[in-house]
Amino acid sequence: MAQRVAVPDGANKKTSRVRVAVRLRPYMDNQDEKDEGPCVRGLDSQNLEIINWRNATETVKYHFDAFHGEQTTQQEVFVSSVKPILPHILTGQNASVFAYGPTGAGKTHTMMGSSDQPGVIPRAVSEVFKLVKAKDEDEGWDYSIGMSYLEIYNEKVLDLLSPSSQDLPIREDKDKNILIPGLTLTTISSFSDFDKHFVPASLNRTTASTKLNQRSSRSHAVLLIKVVRTQRALPHRQQTGKLYLIDLAGSEDNRRTGNQGIRLKESGAINLSLFTLSKVVDSLNSGTAVRVPYRDSKLTRLLQDSLGGSAHSVMITNIAPEYKYYFDTFNALNFASKSKLIVNKPFTCETVAVLPVKRAKEDHKAGGSGA
Ligand code: ADP
Ligand code: MG
Repeated sequence: MAQRVAVPDGANKKTSRVRVAVRLRPYMDNQDEKDEGPCVRGLDSQNLEIINWRNATETVKYHFDAFHGEQTTQQEVFVSSVKPILPHILTGQNASVFAYGPTGAGKTHTMMGSSDQPGVIPRAVSEVFKLVKAKDEDEGWDYSIGMSYLEIYNEKVLDLLSPSSQDLPIREDKDKNILIPGLTLTTISSFSDFDKHFVPASLNRTTASTKLNQRSSRSHAVLLIKVVRTQRALPHRQQTGKLYLIDLAGSEDNRRTGNQGIRLKESGAINLSLFTLSKVVDSLNSGTAVRVPYRDSKLTRLLQDSLGGSAHSVMITNIAPEYKYYFDTFNALNFASKSKLIVNKPFTCETVAVLPVKRAKEDHKAGGSGA
């Protein structure tokens, strides 16, 4: 287990590191009533910048493992951020992929997508079936694939494949595997089999509440794909690999929007899980924490064996470019990145530079510069 293998540069420094990717969704007119244009933009495949609200002549520049700009397709996000970790779950290792970010920034688009633009979940499930089919019979292992689908709402664990169920407990076995006794695990033999269970269960999630948008933005939807392989010959060794695909609750600060009563309680609970997740990711990525606080929330407790340690984890932070998301974007970026740089360069400057030369000259004559 402790054997060293050759890996691409940087990847072997800390095996427990969470890879962080940021995806910027396209600018939407209808999300920008004041017609202010975007306040954030990509620079290259690893960097982006956002206007500094303290000083609009500055931008704040952030660096990530990957940056996916607004033109990025669903296929590109999948291939660069998710596909490489999938082979590991066929050899008894665990993995987790989660979409983080404010409501409206593209988490569900990234994870579920639509029928003409399928997201990470359908692509990953298809790929797992493909990988299993491609396995050589002669290697001597039999594979079986199962799925579970749950929701964490108000710090309660609810089974989406068995909607009448109550809050389920999270346990740990003697080998430190996390398990949920009573959670439905459905064996699936093909992608269409998966879809048959997944689609109605997703509907369960949204119709379970009268205020469906509020609920879906306030709960964490957790899909588990479990691959068990068993050696045909004695001693019939068995290995279990788990893949978690998670559409997290919105990261927006609900205290700012003036929630009250039950809603405030929900926000508090969501903040607990997301706040704990941020502490966990932080301590894994900085490598300095004495204790990774997995036990402080349901979400992180559930992910304990699949986030950090020997697991392969990717966080896709979704952000929106319009000003109305500014502070939520800023917070999401600060969570996602530990390194930022204030750049003394007006954001609007480069926009002017791409205007046709003639127009730029006219602007100059009008004396409107002043930079
Ligand atoms: P969230 O789940 O984070 O609340 P959604 O995934 O529902 O956000 O996205 C909000 C809206 O933006 C939806 O209408 C969605 O289709 C659209 N959208 C999000 N990301 C993209 C993208 N990369 N390309 C095109 N449309 C997108
Ligand atoms: Mg959503």
